[in-house]
Amino acid sequence: MKENKLMMKNHLTAFCQLRKEALDDIRQYLRDNGEIDATQVSNHYQACYFNHHGEPVTALIESIILNENKVEVTTDENYSIGEDDMTTEHIESVLNIMDDLNLIEKQPEVLCPKCQSNNVKMNVWMNPNTPDKTYNPVDDDNEYSGRVYCEDCKDIIALPISGEKKIRELFLDNDIDYVTFDMHFPTDKGYIISVSADGFEYASEETGSFDELDENTLENLAYELELQIEADKEVFDKARGF
Ligand SMILES: [Zn+2]
Repeated sequence: MKENKLMMKNHLTAFCQLRKEALDDIRQYLRDNGEIDATQVSNHYQACYFNHHGEPVTALIESIILNENKVEVTTDENYSIGEDDMTTEHIESVLNIMDDLNLIEKQPEVLCPKCQSNNVKMNVWMNPNTPDKTYNPVDDDNEYSGRVYCEDCKDIIALPISGEKKIRELFLDNDIDYVTFDMHFPTDKGYIISVSADGFEYASEETGSFDELDENTLENLAYELELQIEADKEVFDKARGF
């Protein structure tokens, strides 16, 4: 019994935390993007509540707004439900509306690089003391880091690494500080003439950081960088008479 009681207490704590986080996220969204028009959703959501006369009412949710920095749900019965009076069902409906309108950023799915299946397993670290158990992929440099086991391929497969990570690894592996391109690397913002582990320099002498490039450009940059490093090595070896 004691264990059960403790488990319920832990779950309730986690639940309250989740409720708070959900409302924080909704508030942040409304602050950044303005109100949400729930009538745009093809699948209409209803809210149940007690009106000013204490009568139970079911009405359609019309919009989700921010009122004095608090989330508020308005209904077609001209009634507003404030954040403090929102039940779990109300919050769930708001999240469903946001989901239907594609306003919720999804965590990128980990897929098998070979067959694109999501039936994969990863080495993770787990917190055994939290009721909802938090898992984190293992980042340690062991033989399974950055790899998945695909249940469909029945194989351990390396996940593709991001362009930025690849660039940093190139500098680390080759023990160099920066690379100057023989052929300038074109981007939307101008030509990149040299790269270091922390950023790069445009032909305009302006410096840039990796987060201003999209993943595709970063991967191309990593590829060109690798070629340039190889070319520099050859020149260096020739100069030393190899
Ligand atoms: Zn696979």
